[in-house]
Amino acid sequence: MIDETSTDSPNDLPTGAPYDFQDGFQIEERGDEYYMQLALREAQKAYDAKEVPVGAIIVRDGKVIARSSNQVETLKDATAHAEMLSLSAAQIAIGDWRLEGCTLYVTKEPCPMCAGAIVHCRPDRVVYGCPDAKGGAAGGWINLLDSNPPLNHRCEVSSGVMADECLGILQSFFQSARRRKKEERKAAKLAEQAAEEQGGAKSCD
Ligand SMILES: [Zn+2]
Repeated sequence: MIDETSTDSPNDLPTGAPYDFQDGFQIEERGDEYYMQLALREAQKAYDAKEVPVGAIIVRDGKVIARSSNQVETLKDATAHAEMLSLSAAQIAIGDWRLEGCTLYVTKEPCPMCAGAIVHCRPDRVVYGCPDAKGGAAGGWINLLDSNPPLNHRCEVSSGVMADECLGILQSFFQSARRRKKEERKAAKLAEQAAEEQGGAKSCD
């Protein structure tokens, strides 16, 4: 599924993305998959910046009014999740905190912080890619987007849109992070051994 060298993406998609689209895949109508591909493009930006690859976009009347990637490390801000940044951008774009008529597309199920913010901003719909059974707040772990009387807003939720691609980019990110850590540990061990050997050689002089 993941092809690090793939450049065979459709014209409207970035080249070199670490996810692979089917040959000859054409975007014929701007449905959920089309917009999720744009959110995946944002996730790719996060990946390239060594951030956990999650992307979000917000659409109103068929127009993309906000797009963001996760930027926690870049901004040194634990609240800089893709959804939070795109909610703020959408509010600026339409000049209102009420995101009525808007749909938020995000590659991974929102966490409790983002789900809480979503409910406050009141978009009509939330569409996410892969579920997060451990920490998801759109039904994975808990559900804050469903009818919650104190929060007073209910979003229509669709899940599993391009789930494999959305999960694939996350898995690829964490696999290479683990590989990098392993290599670092190995290099540190070799350096330690070399230092010990050098010390031993010196004591024999
Ligand atoms: Zn979040």
